[in-house]
Amino acid sequence: MNSKNLLASLTHDSDETEFFTPMPTGYEPGKTKYVVVFGTVMSGLGKGIFSSSLAKILQDKGLRVTPIKLEGYLNRDSGTLNPYRHGEVFVLDDGMECDMDLGTYERMLNQELSRLNFTTSGQIFSSVLEKERKGRYLGRDVQMIPHVTGEVKLRLRELAVASKADVVFVEIGGTVGDVENAYFIEAVREMSYEEGQGNFCYVALTYVIEPSILGEQKSKPAQLNLKLLNAAGIHPNIIACRASEPVAKKVREKIALFANVPMDRVFSMHDCDSVYVIPEMLRGGGIDAAVIDLLGLSEQVDTPREEEARKTWADYISRLRTAQHAVTIGIIGKYTTVRDSYASIIQAIEHAGALVGAKVRLEWVDSSDLTPANVAKRLENVHGVIVPGGFGIRGVDGKIACIQHVRENKIPYLGICYGMQLAVIEYARNVAGLQHANSTEIEPDCPQPVIDLLPEQMQIEALGGNMRLGGHDVVLTPGTAAAEMFDNAEEVRLRFRHRYEVNPVHIETLEKSGLVFSGKSPTHPIMHIMEVPKDRHPYFFATQAHPELVTRPLRPQPMFVGLVQAALRYSGVSDASGGCKQEAESATESECDAPGPAGSIDTAATSV
Ligand code: GLN
Repeated sequence: MNSKNLLASLTHDSDETEFFTPMPTGYEPGKTKYVVVFGTVMSGLGKGIFSSSLAKILQDKGLRVTPIKLEGYLNRDSGTLNPYRHGEVFVLDDGMECDMDLGTYERMLNQELSRLNFTTSGQIFSSVLEKERKGRYLGRDVQMIPHVTGEVKLRLRELAVASKADVVFVEIGGTVGDVENAYFIEAVREMSYEEGQGNFCYVALTYVIEPSILGEQKSKPAQLNLKLLNAAGIHPNIIACRASEPVAKKVREKIALFANVPMDRVFSMHDCDSVYVIPEMLRGGGIDAAVIDLLGLSEQVDTPREEEARKTWADYISRLRTAQHAVTIGIIGKYTTVRDSYASIIQAIEHAGALVGAKVRLEWVDSSDLTPANVAKRLENVHGVIVPGGFGIRGVDGKIACIQHVRENKIPYLGICYGMQLAVIEYARNVAGLQHANSTEIEPDCPQPVIDLLPEQMQIEALGGNMRLGGHDVVLTPGTAAAEMFDNAEEVRLRFRHRYEVNPVHIETLEKSGLVFSGKSPTHPIMHIMEVPKDRHPYFFATQAHPELVTRPLRPQPMFVGLVQAALRYSGVSDASGGCKQEAESATESECDAPGPAGSIDTAATSV
């Protein structure tokens, strides 16, 4: 029976069959191909980076790709997760709060994603339980198989229909053998059976250890874990071996033999200096050709397009690598020990540095240790400062002391979300004469609440998914530095995640004392961008948004570009710009290939 016939025979409105395959309207079996990426041995191997790199090299060939991450946890989204434990909460344009891997996909694929690209067990189970209450299971006992797995398959097929993708990349969270992800694995096994041969490609990411006492690579943990995958009914088509050094042929041979995978489909994926070199590393090993071959996609490959995309990407890497002007940016936060909490900010600075020719070093400053007395000393080596987003009162005084110091000493500043609210408080207290200014998040009964809850937040009591979230338009005030930074656009779109805002009651006082609100909501009195004008400060910007969520390698976000440029000037470099700024702001993937000066980032050297 071919896949079309098989799928046609599956019905979910009868209790005569063991099959349960809810099909979204418009789904055409066999039209979409699926690449499923599994992690083995341990977590933290960079599955998202690997999967997005693989998706990118297929996208370069002209194929339409889209990713989905399946997360095993019961939270419905990542909104209530502590970034200290889980890395940053990435917010999509439609307001979905998700795993930071979605940021990796958006940046690598230069593509905007939606809630369809992110599913958690919490979402799957809620939806199954809701359907059960509505009697949608026709008197059957609701089971992990086929109903819960059926819901997973439905999500994958819904994404295929909505995205019209040629290839859907399915990243299964966690590691093979975890109880919580086992049903995702079962769901893709069932689905590949239903879709028929040639429509699914399984890729296992594994890990080759190299214990220092032995001084050689060992493949046993990889072998044993690949067996676990076999036990779940999955026979990988491709194996990618993570390791710190290139994986020796003899080790790959062992893995090939024990996992029953041809040697030419066992690849080494060793550490490298930037995540952006991985697509080329995978291509160099021939993994793209293997996927194309297994999925029968060779006729759809557009080679000239691929050459063009490779060239554009190579230009970016070369700008990134050839470092020129060293500058230091201080990041003032409370989670400074966990770099994953600031993953997108690190990326934004890397993209901006590559564009303007700066080798940016990041200095992590814990705000809990900062006081008015020590701030000058702590910041003496930085050429620019970022106060990133945050919640709660811890470290707030240190951040405010830092903002006062950089404002008064004309050190370039970019405030992000909380970093804008605290900049408004600092300005209100020290310039606008509102000595008791504060945020009601910090001091609920504060007499001069310059930052207060958004009206729609007043009634909300639960914590999850109810901040002001996602993409909103920002109207720029003509003639301001913000408008100039965005090439005099009237409106730009940024992403938000907050509960508090500048209190409209105090706006006039703040403006009269010289603070400029240069970006606003088109529909509500919500201040989105503020600045101290150029004649009083070289670069003092803050935004209620999270501009780091919309940066792309080939389209760096202008606020970060501006900060790095100002930091360069502060460090004594007069003009390091490669003249690519204008192109970058409006660039599509193939447009920004102007050879710029070099840039790199040394603290963000990332290995996967
Ligand atoms: N805590 C602030 C608010 O909720 C800022 C949030 C943030 O920085 N993301 O508005």
